[in-house]
Amino acid sequence: MINGTIYKGIGGFYYVMVDGMLYECKARGKFKNINMTPTVGDFVQINIVDEAEKTGVIETILPRKSILLRPNVSNVDQAIIVFALKNPEPNMMLLDKMILLAENANLDVVLCFNKCDIDDEGRFDTLRSIYNNAGYDILRTSPKTGEGIVSLKAILNNKISVFSGPSGVGKSSLLNAIENGFKLQTGDLSHKIKRGKHTTRHSELLPLKSGGTVVDTPGFTSLSLHEIPLDRLSSLFPEFESISAACQFDNCKHLSEPNCAVKAAVEAGEIHASRYEAYQYIYHEIETLGRKYKKW
Ligand code: GDP
Ligand code: ZN
Repeated sequence: MINGTIYKGIGGFYYVMVDGMLYECKARGKFKNINMTPTVGDFVQINIVDEAEKTGVIETILPRKSILLRPNVSNVDQAIIVFALKNPEPNMMLLDKMILLAENANLDVVLCFNKCDIDDEGRFDTLRSIYNNAGYDILRTSPKTGEGIVSLKAILNNKISVFSGPSGVGKSSLLNAIENGFKLQTGDLSHKIKRGKHTTRHSELLPLKSGGTVVDTPGFTSLSLHEIPLDRLSSLFPEFESISAACQFDNCKHLSEPNCAVKAAVEAGEIHASRYEAYQYIYHEIETLGRKYKKW
C-alpha cells in the first residue's frame, strides 16, 4: 500500500495525490459499514489497480488531525485570515469571530493584513500590537507592490491551508501573486454539475507550484458561532488562557466575577480592550443562540 492525500471527490471517485501524481480511486465498501466517508484532505493508504491508468482503491483512512465542515475538508493545518487595512476597512468583530472559528476547529491562525500599499492611517501597527499580544503570526502584504508575498509563500509551504476573510480584501489577488492563474471558488458551492446524473460539487485541494496546498473555497463564510461551546470560549482566546489560572474561581467566565485576573489584565492594558469586548459580545451572542436552539 502507498500513502496519499485525497485532493477531490466526484461521483463516488476520489482523486488521491501520491508524489505529485493523481490516482482515480474507489473506496472499499467497508468504510460504509463503519459509517466513514472518505473526505477531501484525508490521508489515505491505497492499493494501485492499474499503474498505467493511474487507478486504485482506498484501503485505509488515517486518523484525522482536524475536520472542517464548511467546506468539508480534513487535515487542514492553518487558516490564513485575510483582512484589508483599507478598502474595505477592517471589521474587528468579524476578524475576532473568524479567528475564533479557526481556533475552535483546531487550526493554526495566520493573520494576513493586506493592501499595505494604501495603509495611510497606520492601521497595521495597531493591529500588530493587538494580535502579536494574542500570539498570532502576522503578515503585512500587498500583491500590488509584492510586499510580504515571499513570506506568505514560505508560510504555505508543506501545509494544507484555508483562506478566509470578507470578499474584496484581496484573497484571490494574493494567491495570484503566488501563482499566476490561481483561483479561489466563490459563490454557491452546492450547485449541481451535469455529467449524466446530478453530482454535487465538493471542495478540492489545489497544489501550489511553490509548495503547499490550498482549499479551493474560502473558509468560515457562515460564522455560525452556535458550534462553539460557551465553556470553551475563553480558552479560544490564547492571551486569556495563561492569565485565567490566576482568577479566583476555576470556572470564572471573566464577566462579573470578583477577582478576575483577565479583567485585571484588560485594565492594566496587558490584554487589549478590543479583544475583551469581542469576548463579551460573542459570549452573549452564543448564550442567546443557545436559548433559541433550546426552544426549537
Ligand atoms: P477577494 O474577494 O478577497 O478575493 O479580493 P480580490 O483579490 O478580488 O481583490 C479585491 C480588489 O482589491 C481588487 O480590485 C484588487 O485589485 C484589489 N487589491 C487586492 N490586493 C490589493 C493590494 O494589495 N493593494 C491594493 N491597492 N488593492 C488590492
Ligand atoms: Zn476571570
